[in-house]
Order: sequence, then C-alpha cells, then structure tokens
Amino acid sequence: AMEYGPAPEDPKEVERWLDAHKRSFGNYIDGAWQKPASGEYFATNNPATGDKIADVAQADAADVDAAVQAARKALPAWQALTGHQRARYLYALARQVQKHSRRLAVLETIDNGKPIRESRDIDIPLVARHFYHHAGWAQLLESEFPGYTACGVVGQIIPWNFPLLMFAWKVAPALAAGNTVVIKPAEYTPLTALALAELADEIGLPPGVLNVINGDGRTGALLVEHDDIDKIAFTGSTEVGRIIRKATAGSTKKLSLELGGKSPFIVFDDADMDSAVEGLVDGIWFNQGQVCCAGSRLLVQERIAEAFYAKARARMETLRVGSPLDKSVDIGAIVAPVQLERIRALVDQGVADGATCWQPQSTMPQKGLYFPPTLLTGVHPTATVAQEEIFGPVLAAMTFRTPSEAIELANNTTYGLAASIWSENINVALDVASQVKAGVVWVNSTNLFDASCGFGGYRESGYGREGGREGMYEYLEPAWGHERAKQKRPAKAASTKED
Ligand code: NAD
Repeated sequence: AMEYGPAPEDPKEVERWLDAHKRSFGNYIDGAWQKPASGEYFATNNPATGDKIADVAQADAADVDAAVQAARKALPAWQALTGHQRARYLYALARQVQKHSRRLAVLETIDNGKPIRESRDIDIPLVARHFYHHAGWAQLLESEFPGYTACGVVGQIIPWNFPLLMFAWKVAPALAAGNTVVIKPAEYTPLTALALAELADEIGLPPGVLNVINGDGRTGALLVEHDDIDKIAFTGSTEVGRIIRKATAGSTKKLSLELGGKSPFIVFDDADMDSAVEGLVDGIWFNQGQVCCAGSRLLVQERIAEAFYAKARARMETLRVGSPLDKSVDIGAIVAPVQLERIRALVDQGVADGATCWQPQSTMPQKGLYFPPTLLTGVHPTATVAQEEIFGPVLAAMTFRTPSEAIELANNTTYGLAASIWSENINVALDVASQVKAGVVWVNSTNLFDASCGFGGYRESGYGREGGREGMYEYLEPAWGHERAKQKRPAKAASTKED
C-alpha cells in the first residue's frame, strides 16, 4: 500500500487541476470528455464559502443515449476478458486513488463540505480499499461464481453525502463482475467522480467501460428509463427510490436500492457511558449527520437518561464547527441551502411538537452553510423528528424502561438500515441485536464498514446488499438465464406468433 506513499498536502494542487480543466467539465463518454448536446451547464459550489467551484454539463437524452451506447459497444470485449485481466485495471485504479489521495480528499471536501479529516482518513482510503477488494473478487470470479455472468450495461445513480465512496461502492463490483457502467453522480458533488474518470482514462481502461454523465434528477430519470440498460443501482432518498421502483416495474431491468434510515442508538443502563458518548459523536455528528445509517434516534434507559444527556451535552460543547479544510474541525458545512433549510424546519417542528432543543454555545462561522450539533430530548415516539430522516447533525432522544420496550421503540420506524447497541451485558446486547430489524447492527461500536461486508437495508431502507460476496451477486446473473434472455429478445415478435 505504501508503494507511492502519501502525496504532499497541497490544496493548490486542486486549484491547478481545476484550472487545467478550465473549471468546466463535460460528460465522460466512450473514453473522452464530451460537451453536453444541449450546451447546458450547472454550477457546483463550495458549501463552506458559497463560491462556485466549476461548471458541469447537464446531460440530456442524447448524452444519456450516447453513454449507454458506448457502454453497450464496450461490453463484449470487457466481458471476454478473464477476471484476472479485469482485476489488473481495478488494482491500477486503487493505486491511482492512493497516489492522488490528498488531491481527491481536498476536492471532496470543497465540493461537499465534509471535514478534511474525514475525507482524508476515512472516505478516500475506503475508496482505495473498495477497488482493491473488488480486484480480488474479479480474480476469484470463475472459481467463486461458476455459472454466473455479468448483468450487462449497468446504470448507477449516487448521492452527495459520500460522493467518491458511493462511486467506488457502485463501480468496483460492477466492473469486477464484467459489466460496463454509466454512472450519474449527484449534482451537488460531481467533481471527484470526474477526477476518477480521468484516472481511469490514465490507466488505459478501455473506452466505454466506464461512462460518467452529469446532471440533476432529470438526467437520473432518463438513465433509469433508457431501454438498453440491464440493471439500475440507486443510492439516495426513499422518495426517489420509490419513483425508480415504479419506473422500472414491468421492465426487465434488475434493480437494487440503498435508501434512507432512522437508525436507533440504544444505550442500556449498564453501558460504558464514556464510550457510548464517543459512539454517539461518530453515530450522529460524523459527516454532519448526512449519513444514511446515522444513529439519529437515541434510545436511553430511563434510569441513566439525565446523566447520559449531561455527558452528551458536555461533549457537544467541545465539537468544533467550522471550515472543512481546517484539520481540527469536527463538523463542516451542510451540502446545500435546501438541505440546511430542511434541517432547520424539522428542528423547529420538533420543538413545536414538544421536544426540548439543546445546542452548544460554541461559535459558528458567520458565512457558509452550517448547522450546530443539536440534541432534542423528550421526543415523542410518534413525532415527526422521531420518524422522519433529518439528514443533519440532529439527534432525537427518547427513553425506555425494559429491553423489550427498547426493541419496540427501535422497530417503530418504516426504515431498517442500521442499529447500534450499548451494554456491558453481552447477553442483553446480542439478544436485542437479534430482534432489531436492521441490515447492520453494531454492538458497543458504530459506523464500522468494510468492503468485504455486505451493507444494505430492510423495509423502506431498500433492498440488495453492497460489498463482499452478497454485493457481487447484485451484478451477476445465472448464465443460463442470461443466454436464454439474449436469445429471446430479438425473436420476441416471432415467438408470440408461434404461441
Ligand atoms: P436524492 O434521492 O434526491 O438524490 C440521489 C440521486 O438521485 C442524485 O444523483 C439525484 O440527482 C438523483 N435523482 C433525483 N431524482 C431522480 C429521479 N426522479 N430519477 C432518477 N434519479 C434521480 O437523495 P439525496 O438528497 O442526494 O441523498 C440523501 C438521501 O440518500 C438520504 O435520504 C439518505 O438516507 C440516502 N442515502 C442512502 C444511502 C444508503 O446506502 N442507504 C447512502 C447515502 C444516502
């Protein structure tokens, strides 16, 4: 991993890179930068300063079609490679991510607003890890997935909260399995995906294997509706997930959805309180709370509730809100004005519904999109702030008396993505863990992710898993069905007559 060593820390490197692109980005289609057919561009801004970083193409139907056609054309040759041959590209991409990790981290931070400490130490290393891990799966494809073949052309749509990490979660398994890809990053944070497309180009990834198109939900909808796509993979809001589910119903497209959450963070009265408070900091204040599996509902056993809140408030006083490029900052900027407004409105609603709102006295930057860490106590389990995903640094706290009450409260949600359980009694913790409906349950820990571990939800948090062996199956099909479908497709009219 230390082949290249860390690149020197130099935010100016990002400025030079942006200047080299004249601060204007087209779509990356068929191995080349292409101007949008419509000539329309949108601005991507730095949420910490409000300044425009660059203009980015808004892809329309013609661009989406060009990208899908390029992916279709590239598919036979890409599929004909052995897993070992495809692995070489994934290893090369992983090394490129490591080599350019500082530039990617700074770019992520200015486009998204997340603290540099997080993008540098968490997001970008995990991006490299995902490419390495899936290079391994590519090598094992023939032996571990005999009789399986790639789905074909895959359309992928990703959110803005972990822009490059979500890109890696989507692209690495798809390419490892032998699919070709058309991916659309979120409109607030397209830049690191474009930087990675450029790195893919530099390692000689064949044209058309990876296409990156930009734009807002309109572009996403065009991708979902394109009829030459074999699979759609989406990460984002439950609301858009529902739209995509409807749009693909009745089509032959395979679909996986990673959606929202309202994950419980359950603290029993025998928990190690200091550790639980640290867990909470990571659970709800990591990435400004803009995390699908954020521990956004705090459930505390009644006997210790006041003492635990007091400890949490003291810790909140020490959290530093400020410029995401400052290495000592804990909480950076919220990605966009509309998200900040939504957080504000939901907190106001929580207070109107009877909750007590507490925020630390620490100073906030005068300019930029910031929201302080917020604790709402005395939240009623049916209140909006207990049910709706806030996607901000806001914790909604409730109390329980018994383990069965904790389970009932934990499951009192339409979601089922993650849960975190804190107790020194491992029997209680494991028993509760087995009864909480969540795709991942952490005991005395939180936010542990690994490329080898399937991640995904139940209920309105979506379906399908990303990462590890389960994640590979999302991009594979039994070869027999695949061959049969291919034969049937062109002969559809004829076979109807025979019937
Ligand atoms: P969003 O659903 O608005 O946008 C996600 C992506 O979908 C963006 O690229 C957007 O341009 C695109 N999009 C919007 N409308 C579309 C349409 N009609 N058809 C196709 N594509 C469309 O969500 P967001 O605001 O970007 O992200 C926040 C949400 O994502 C939160 O609810 C969060 O919980 C969820 N999320 C889930 C996971 C997970 O793994 N489960 C991970 C990250 C975020």
